Amino acid sequence: MKRREFVGGLAAAAGLAACTSEQADCTSTAAAGGETFEWSCVTSWPPKFPGLGMAPENLATRVEAASGGRLKIKVYGGGELVPPFEVFDAVSRGTVEMGHGASYYHKGKVDAAQFFTAIPFGLTNTELNGWLYYGGGMDLYRELYEPFDLVPLPCGNTGVQMGGWFNKEINSIDDIKGLKMRIPGLGGEVLRRAGGTPVTLPGAEIFTALQTGAIDATEWVGPYNDASFGLHKAAKYYYYPGWQEPGPGLETIVNKAAWDSLPPDLKEIVSITCQALTTDMAAEYTHGNAMSLATLKADPNIEIRPFPDEVVALLKSITEEVVAELMANDPASAKIGKAYFEYLEKTAAYSDISERAYLTARHL
Ligand code: CA
Repeated sequence: MKRREFVGGLAAAAGLAACTSEQADCTSTAAAGGETFEWSCVTSWPPKFPGLGMAPENLATRVEAASGGRLKIKVYGGGELVPPFEVFDAVSRGTVEMGHGASYYHKGKVDAAQFFTAIPFGLTNTELNGWLYYGGGMDLYRELYEPFDLVPLPCGNTGVQMGGWFNKEINSIDDIKGLKMRIPGLGGEVLRRAGGTPVTLPGAEIFTALQTGAIDATEWVGPYNDASFGLHKAAKYYYYPGWQEPGPGLETIVNKAAWDSLPPDLKEIVSITCQALTTDMAAEYTHGNAMSLATLKADPNIEIRPFPDEVVALLKSITEEVVAELMANDPASAKIGKAYFEYLEKTAAYSDISERAYLTARHL
């Protein structure tokens, strides 16, 4: 018996996914050592879209490699298997094993899920991760999804977004009135109460809606993703800051029965890979936004501006009202919101004298 066959046979006999330096390819050996799984993952994103759409692709590639081919995941872009906003239902019903998207898209089905993506004027990327992984957030996240037979895993974060692209100047509160803007989640409700008309559109439909005048404005993500859609070719004014999404967390959701069918090591591989992708995506967006912003700044047809203070102050006070109502009307939102805002108060106290103080100091 050749050494390679001998080693492979031993590993299979022991039920181990062993891989030695003598083996050029350990995939087949590992597969022989345990049950294999083939999953489908539906997403809310355009297929292979930079950052957002690549996160589930990267998840699939890394999980397959880390598991020695024991868990293979085929990724479908929004609309390929199910529409972008039906990911939650498809995974909940067990039509597919896995999904990737943003929890605020489930507004109306499970309102409290919005706390795990973004709350306007709420936690930043790093603060959200502190809450989820160390501050008790994950326990609340799992508990919220349990009745839907879903297991949530944070998987990606875009960092602070931009306020969005506008086809008209925003100089005062009056300019918000009558504004038709694509803006999902709680931010959309805040815009509505400020006199605007919020619209929820999947990413793939934004450019055409803005270009044809079906909407006056849109937020999407930031320079990296917005430039990919060519939004700078459909609107002139690019406003900041992204008050509506200070560091939205994305999610992988797994059907409970599918999750329970995995052996402990594969569960760990999926969990660790999702957590790795959360920091990986933050790094990708830090880089991509910096490069794309430089390009946008050099474009004479674009004006990059801050929202007037009075507009931001109004949006903030309406946000407080909207969140208070959400918590008053929905017991799950009351419980999760209480934990979220208690955490925000503590983490903001440190962010103020660390990140914020440092960023101010850097520009003195
Ligand atoms: Ca957004």
